[in-house]
Amino acid sequence: MTNDVRYEETECRSALNRVHGMDFKWSLNPYRGCVHGCHYCFARRYNSYADLDPGNDFSGLVFVKTNVVDVLKEELSLRSWVSETVAIGTATDPYQPIEGKYRLTRGCLEALAERHTPVRIVTRGTMALRDVDVLADMAKRAGASVCFSVTTLDHDMWKELEPGTPPPVQRLHVMEQLVKAGVSAGVLLAPIVPGMTDDQESLKAVVEAAAAHGASFLGTRVLHLQQGTKEHFMHYLETEHPRLHHAYQVLYPAEFAPKQIQQEIRERVDDLKDTYGLREREHNDMSLAVRERQLDLMAV
Ligand code: SF4
Repeated sequence: MTNDVRYEETECRSALNRVHGMDFKWSLNPYRGCVHGCHYCFARRYNSYADLDPGNDFSGLVFVKTNVVDVLKEELSLRSWVSETVAIGTATDPYQPIEGKYRLTRGCLEALAERHTPVRIVTRGTMALRDVDVLADMAKRAGASVCFSVTTLDHDMWKELEPGTPPPVQRLHVMEQLVKAGVSAGVLLAPIVPGMTDDQESLKAVVEAAAAHGASFLGTRVLHLQQGTKEHFMHYLETEHPRLHHAYQVLYPAEFAPKQIQQEIRERVDDLKDTYGLREREHNDMSLAVRERQLDLMAV
């Protein structure tokens, strides 16, 4: 993460992006780039598509789509709009600090609420609490869910992997408030980073805390490294964790960890979910599978 962040106002031609092959049809991102600066961020790859550095440019240069609310309202006013689910936060965190100034995410939520459109949000921020009124209203009208990504509760590991994010425990407190307000909110234990956050103690701490703070669901996913993200993450390992760098060259010849490792980690998380009663809660929340598939596209 860089300390000097440059914000660039820009105008978008469309607010809603069509999504194919997922259980939701649309995505929406009021910003591009993210000051949270997570080293493993899936969305770093979008910078490499745009000839920007997936490293410092991703966390040090944030584009603000100043007209996104107006464009969204125009799109929602079309007779063809049938209020299909919109996923917010697929390529940036919609609740990164600059949202406090521009309030674009809130404006989009209000517009979507008007059109009775369900939303799913993924965030590592805490600002969703500001929007609890509109989210609770949406939950009643059409459905709203907020996924709080939590990779680790270990202070040092959090600071290292996600240097610009609010502390994970604060995210859990916000999640708890949303659940109390009637919003479906839970934890995405993602990404699980082999060799860094996949030990039993780390997984247990997150699952236990999620349950204690009233999570409606808990999804999980092992790190995958696509082009752009992979270059940045491997450089980070080489600099900070040379031994792990070598291990990752073996573990990640492609973008996914070996299936056997993914399966083994998933089974451990499932066992922990049983232990802390989270699977039982999820039976009352049938959309979990849908959310997990959402992870395929989200900047987790
Ligand atoms: S993972 Fe999410 S919060 Fe972290 S840098 Fe990427 S978009 Fe931002």
